Amino acid sequence: MEKLDGALVKMRKPLITLVIYGQINHDLSNYLKESLYNFLRSMDDDLKYTPEISVVKKPNPKLEKKGKEEEVFLRDLDSVSGKIVVGITGKGIYDNYISRNIFGFGRGGNGLLSSHRFRKSTQRKMRERLGKEIIKIFGLAADVRHCFHGNCILSYHRRVKDLDRNHRVCENCTKKLIQNINQYMED
Ligand SMILES: [Zn+2]
Repeated sequence: MEKLDGALVKMRKPLITLVIYGQINHDLSNYLKESLYNFLRSMDDDLKYTPEISVVKKPNPKLEKKGKEEEVFLRDLDSVSGKIVVGITGKGIYDNYISRNIFGFGRGGNGLLSSHRFRKSTQRKMRERLGKEIIKIFGLAADVRHCFHGNCILSYHRRVKDLDRNHRVCENCTKKLIQNINQYMED
């Protein structure tokens, strides 16, 4: 409920949708939602709307051919309503060009995080790393490209443990993100 007590109250809009594909541990999916929410709240002063995240559960789409996962998931994410839609799956997303599974992808308002490569981490490390990676995937979904500052969560990570060196999003990426998120809200 919106409370108006003289102060300017920003509208709440269900603009971000988190799609939980298949059987993702409940605590983990809550943690990832919280991680993304806290990150968005940290930019709240500069965002046009207070970020709201709605959660949708879906079965994994049918994956027939290795290397086609990105295409299949993108099509599925496109069918979900939300200004920016980010999915989480336990399935591997194989990249034919680099011949390995990737952490995820994002562009044009849609993104997907795969926990597959993180499965060998301890529970604690897995949460911590995925909590950062979801922010990166969200950034990519909002069309912020990989960052060249080695100390930024949005920089490129080759191995899962490379995420341990990053604790925040750099000023430059934060600025770009605010601009892009506001743009997505308008569209
Ligand atoms: Zn950055």
